[in-house]
Amino acid sequence: MLGGAPLIAIPLASASGEAPLRHGINAAYVAAVQMAGGLPVLLPPNEHTADLVARLDAFDGLLLAGGGDVLAEFYGQTSTAHIQGVDRARDLTEIALAQAALARGMPILGICRGAQVLCVAAGGTLYQDVQAALPQASDHRHRAGHARGFLAHTVSLLRTGLLAQSLERPRGAEVPVNSSHHQAVDTPPPGFEVAARAPDGVIEAIELNGDGRAYALGVQWHPEELMPTHRAMVGLFTMLVQRAAGR
Ligand code: MN
Repeated sequence: MLGGAPLIAIPLASASGEAPLRHGINAAYVAAVQMAGGLPVLLPPNEHTADLVARLDAFDGLLLAGGGDVLAEFYGQTSTAHIQGVDRARDLTEIALAQAALARGMPILGICRGAQVLCVAAGGTLYQDVQAALPQASDHRHRAGHARGFLAHTVSLLRTGLLAQSLERPRGAEVPVNSSHHQAVDTPPPGFEVAARAPDGVIEAIELNGDGRAYALGVQWHPEELMPTHRAMVGLFTMLVQRAAGR
């Protein structure tokens, strides 16, 4: 970093069902990065991933936002009818960026779909649909009539690591979260650990199990929708920006 606020790259989605096609992302992600002292840089999907990867060092950190489902073909499965909101160019863009960022030790925060992209990029697998794969699991989808910040369930912090450090909560703490997903991590990627689970056992966070210097964390809930009222959630973004500043 040459000075100034750390540059946090945020890949965009393509808005479906709109003509003309638009690229965008919920403004809450941008606001959260700004609130944490970072300078967001929004990147449209680009299937010429080599160009992006070659210039990745221009950025200091990577935020992978929420959105539709990653094509199951990217984790060695065949996509079933459960796969929704496919955006192949975004998948290609984000998986390439995440892999390159991991290889460089660039800090990564993945949120909801972003946690799933991080998982896939690092070699893990997803449940294409939690309800179908785990009939005993509770309903993790967004509930009609509730605000996006509705605290639907708790997660328990399973280790003293990046997540617990970011939230400034001890291992074993129960943290209430919002929930708006129908997929989840099945097999965590090599080198990652499960950092949090919901009471039904569904994986709610994965993190790099390194020496604590490398930073890659994926959370299944939406901390950006809990800002700034839930102070602990601010820590997820300030940790990303601080680690980005320290590169
Ligand atoms: Mn959940």
